Amino acid sequence: MFFLHLCLRSRAADSSKAEAEEEEEEEEQRPEGGYLQAVDSAGVPLCLSCQGPCSTTGGAWDTRFCSHRCQEEFQLRSSQTYMRSRVMETEQGVCQQCGLHAHDLFLKVRDAPPPQRKDVLENTWLAQLPLKRLNEMIRAPVEGDFWQVDHIRPVYGGGGQCSLDNLQTLCTVCHKARTAEQAKERSQMRKSAAASKVASDISRFFVRK
Ligand SMILES: [Zn+2]
Ligand SMILES: [Zn+2]
Repeated sequence: MFFLHLCLRSRAADSSKAEAEEEEEEEEQRPEGGYLQAVDSAGVPLCLSCQGPCSTTGGAWDTRFCSHRCQEEFQLRSSQTYMRSRVMETEQGVCQQCGLHAHDLFLKVRDAPPPQRKDVLENTWLAQLPLKRLNEMIRAPVEGDFWQVDHIRPVYGGGGQCSLDNLQTLCTVCHKARTAEQAKERSQMRKSAAASKVASDISRFFVRK
């Protein structure tokens, strides 16, 4: 039996408003302003990440998490900004699919005088993006237009873990291609699930007499 108690801790300022406009469909909405943390019947708080009991003996990390690993996972899940900065540290904004230095390209475009931005983007891998999007990248370049963080094992494929080793950098072109591919995969999974349901209905029908 668990009791819920409301921990009113203010969240670290998180620029989630700007990120919300991004196309990450899989992001879950987090309540703002506080966390609901469960405690067990003895009053021991349960980890917000894995629901395991947290040490209350005054360890180095805060009692919302049982371990640094869980804390890291939770932060990766709840803040796009944090997730991007951690992936940036390890991959420097280089697309893991095509090798484009997407973050460098972003910096070049951003730092170029607006009339020259088109020339910087031209003849790059990203120049194949829709014109509307390219115009936006020239008018007001933001790094989220150039590269995204991708889940290597997709969430729907059981790779819900948000640990750093399941995340990779993809440039916008490669990310779009992968997202389209995954949408196709998902619809095939749905179809085969529907087909096996029909098959099991039929077998029930035959067993029943
Ligand atoms: Zn945990
Ligand atoms: Zn790429």
